[in-house]
Amino acid sequence: MGNPALTAPLVLPGVTLKAPLFLPDGTRGGVRALDAMDVENCGVQILMMNAFHLAQRPGVRVVQALGGLKQMSSWRRPLATDSGGFQAYSLIRENAKNGSVDDRGLTFRNEGKKTQLTPEKAIVSQLRLGADLLFCLDQCTHVDDAPSIQEDSVRRTIDWGRRCKEEFETILGQKRTSPEARPRLFGVVQGGGNLPLRTRCAEALLEMGFDGFGFGGWPLDSDGALLTDILAHVRETIPASYPLHALGVGHPASIAAVHRLGYTMFDSALPTRDARHGRLYTFTGEQGTGEKGPGDSTRESDNSWFRFLYMTDKRHLRDAEPASPFCRGLCCERYSLGYLHHLFVSKDPSYQRLATIHNLHFMNELMRRLSSPEIQGGEGSALQ
Ligand SMILES: [Zn+2]
Repeated sequence: MGNPALTAPLVLPGVTLKAPLFLPDGTRGGVRALDAMDVENCGVQILMMNAFHLAQRPGVRVVQALGGLKQMSSWRRPLATDSGGFQAYSLIRENAKNGSVDDRGLTFRNEGKKTQLTPEKAIVSQLRLGADLLFCLDQCTHVDDAPSIQEDSVRRTIDWGRRCKEEFETILGQKRTSPEARPRLFGVVQGGGNLPLRTRCAEALLEMGFDGFGFGGWPLDSDGALLTDILAHVRETIPASYPLHALGVGHPASIAAVHRLGYTMFDSALPTRDARHGRLYTFTGEQGTGEKGPGDSTRESDNSWFRFLYMTDKRHLRDAEPASPFCRGLCCERYSLGYLHHLFVSKDPSYQRLATIHNLHFMNELMRRLSSPEIQGGEGSALQ
């Protein structure tokens, strides 16, 4: 019953994490507006930090001087870092003057500095930052990019995957890292909306032997719909024993839909950014009464099992109830929605903390509901 991929755990040095997992983006070394204890109290098992941003500021050497990312940010649970390929891609896509890509790697100009990111450098810096889970450097694309760009991206992503793996093994070999203490390395599957290219990329990376894989590239089409067929195809190509991470997927409806396809790891800055900007997440209905399953639709409008609360909405002014009866966070155990609304419109910094705690509790509860057997059971199951 269910998809066997849904139970593949994430095995890290010294700890095995139960799937599914949502990794909040602690882009610059922490979740904005929260300290490490707040994040722990939201039930977060693993964070995703960004090697690209941290290499720019405060710099890998500075992080090392402060004892590594975990020591620096007092984060005592597992940590993943991504290579920065996506950020470099976004900068270059926005404006070609920001940089370029060739077979050696990515070159970009940011804040007046010219930086080169090669597969080898991506591994060196992620290991120096002290991540438990690293991602290979890949060349990101959008599904609408020309076929020749998709071809180049897959060719480079395969070659860069090989170079990342070689650098990773060389450094760990030199350091004589024991098998138990070895960080894990994920390859990233590219290929845009082209099924044969996705297959080629996935099969080549599988042969190289990674610990798991990420679905790379922009996961939405130009209408904002999830690339469901492509996501499903990649999941079918990668054996169920490997964890598969949907990179950058964070909208609750999208997570539910890709989880249904067999993806068990997700990361995004969306839930925490939404919280800060006044969009809170909450479940609807009572336990077991919902009609819709979490993966019945990828469209936001068709997902009635959750809803958004907007802090700009004046209706919340006199609301003495918590934002969500399902939330076990400080935000809802101690405070009313009316008070949160007041803090938001007053621009009180404590709003950002409470709201971020709220959305992270929602994401934690979403993972719990997704992992329950009745949800995995398939049709007609509900998230309520
Ligand atoms: Zn709450």
